[in-house]
Order: sequence, then C-alpha cells, then structure tokens
Amino acid sequence: MTRAAPISQALARIAPSRTTAMTDRALALRAAGRDVISLSVGEPDFPTPDHVKAAAKAALDAGDTRYTAVLGTPALRAAAALHFERDLGLTMPPERVIVCAGGKQAIFHALLATLDPGDEVLIPAPWWVSYPEIVRFAGGSVAPVMTDAQTGYRLTPDQLSAAITPRTRWLLLNSPGNPTGATYSAADLVALGDVLRRHRDVLVLSDDIYAPLRYTPGDHATLAVVCPDLAPRVLTVSGVSKSHAMTGFRIGVAAGPDWLIAAMGTLQSHSSGNACSISQAAAVAAFTGPQDFLIDWRARFRVRRDRVVAAINAIPGLSTPVPDGAFYCLIDAAPLMGRFGDDEALALHLLDHGVAVVAASAFGGHHGFRISFAADDDRLDRAITRIAQALA
Ligand code: GLU
Repeated sequence: MTRAAPISQALARIAPSRTTAMTDRALALRAAGRDVISLSVGEPDFPTPDHVKAAAKAALDAGDTRYTAVLGTPALRAAAALHFERDLGLTMPPERVIVCAGGKQAIFHALLATLDPGDEVLIPAPWWVSYPEIVRFAGGSVAPVMTDAQTGYRLTPDQLSAAITPRTRWLLLNSPGNPTGATYSAADLVALGDVLRRHRDVLVLSDDIYAPLRYTPGDHATLAVVCPDLAPRVLTVSGVSKSHAMTGFRIGVAAGPDWLIAAMGTLQSHSSGNACSISQAAAVAAFTGPQDFLIDWRARFRVRRDRVVAAINAIPGLSTPVPDGAFYCLIDAAPLMGRFGDDEALALHLLDHGVAVVAASAFGGHHGFRISFAADDDRLDRAITRIAQALA
C-alpha cells in the first residue's frame, strides 16, 4: 500500500471523527467572525451542577493532583457501582468497574483488548460515529446491520440471528441510541438475549450513557440485568458526560467481567495511565450527590425535542421520527438528494447558511443529517429558521 504520510496501517484504516470535525469547523468559522449555530456536537448546554464544580475545586485545593490507581480511585469505583445499581438496576461490585477518560476510551480499550484480525463486530446502523472506526483501528471488521424507522431503529432478533457468523466477537448495543434515540425495552432485550444464548462466544458491549435521558415512562432496560445469565459476557458502559453536563471532564465508567476489566486495565496502564484525578473527584460528587436536577433537565429536553420534531417535520423535504431518548434527531432528507447530490453536500450547504449539522453518512445512515437539540430555545429556533430558509 502507498501511503501519503508515514502513518501506521491501523491509522490508515480510519478517518477523523466527523462529529468532532464538524464542531471544530463551526468553532473555527465562529472565531473568524461568522455567525454559526452549532447543532453538531452532542453535549448538554446546561451548566455543570454547582456541587460537582465545588468537588473539583476542593480536590485541587486538597492536592489531589497525582496519579491515581489505573482502574480509578476506590471512591469513584464505588460511586460508579452505586450509579450502575441505582440508575441501571445493575448490581456490580466496585472491583468490576473501570474508570476511563470518557466512555469513548472505555470502548476503545475494550475493543483493542479483545479483537484480532478477522474478528467481526456487529453494529446496528445508524451508529455512533466512533464505533466502526474503533473496530477497524483495533483490526476487527465491521458487520453493519441496517435498522430503519419502522422498527424504531432497533435491531430485531431475526436481524441479529442472520448477522451472527462464527467470526462474530462482539455485538454493540446503544440504548438510548445516538443518533436515532432508539431505546430498547426489556422485552426487546429478552428477545435478543434468546438469540445470543445460542452463540456463546459473542460478547456484548452495552453503551448506556444516555440512560438518564429517556422520555418514555418506565425503568431503563439493559441486557446484563434483563438477561442475568448473559452478564458474564456483557460490558456495560456509562458516564457523567451527558447526564451531568461534564463532557470536558472526560470520565467514563464500564462494568463487566473480571477478565475484561483486567485486560482493559493492562491497556490503560500503558495509555492514559488513569483518568484525571480532579475529574474523578468531580465524578464522585456527580454520582453520589443530588440527582433531582435531572427531572428538570429531562423535562426541558423533552419540550425541546417535541418543538424541534414538529418544526422539522413542517419543513418540506425533511422528516424525523420522535426520538425516545438522548438529544438527537436523525432527519431524513431523501426528497432533497436530487438537488444536493449527497448528504455531505447538504450539510455543507446548511453550514453556509449558518447551521452546523452532521451528515447521516457519518453514522452509517444516508440521505439526511443529525442535529443535537441540546441547545437553548433561542438557538434552536434560529437554527431551524435558517434550515428552513436554506432549503426553501
Ligand atoms: N458523542 C457526542 C456526539 O455524538 C460527542 C462527540 C463525539 O465524541 O462524537 O456528538
């Protein structure tokens, strides 16, 4: 293979994150004086709660500025175990929890620690942009399973059964899902569990980072709880970024079988070493402190979701289902593709009109784009007006 730059073959298999690339682009345009509203990145616009910021300051003042244990401070591993139990219904001893620099790093370390060339990873599409790239970087191959709006973008047991091969190493599940908001019920997971039981070598990564941001009634459902017999091969990933508006702190947590947590720890001991000590102290406060602000945040996200869905569906050529969780709308723009050619061209056209969005193709989808509705009402209203004008 001829390479333009002396990069590794592993890196040559992947591309930069298109969510972060679009956000960087919007920031650069803004710095150059352009008026751009960014709906490209998924992070709550609400301020990080005061008690979390106070815990970070107190940690700094207390001189909490050294290396921590590789797997995380005992306090945070215990707090994360509390979070898994309280918010996901998952009972996990702190010894089976690892703290990483973001959920992204937890996923990175899990896949890098377990994939060999030729191993397949089943990913329901549309997917979060980094899943397939991490798989490819780790040497695995991506086995996409296309879901659609008719099934609420949820993988069906028949699709799962048809997609599993003797090379399947992992299934990635994300509920509520980014970019579709797809949310699996306990019954959905029981049905998928029935299929997984027939394939003993398949591991499951359940990315539940958006669990606190669900808009449907009832408890959150997660595979390791709904099918406890499968728990020994499930890694459940969560964090504080989305639920506590702490994206910049970079703290993700994962709970799973001993061997996998140890393997991820071996890798982590040579990569980041440990997650930031100050951020870990802040995350303890996030998991153990008051959670009632979330009732208000959820209600406000829900109101925004409903406004945005109604406004988008009123724009000719655009349509979107109502997402059950997270804070994204995956918008179908198929009727406009004749005019724009592809969804990347459409996203660039919208950027020209002052709104940063991410093309659906970044998520393994097509003919559309994703917006995040984690922006204040005024920005959302202005962004939607601009989208309508850009497409008029
Ligand atoms: N997960 C968020 C998103 O999809 C943050 C950016 C990223 O890491 O992709 O926008």
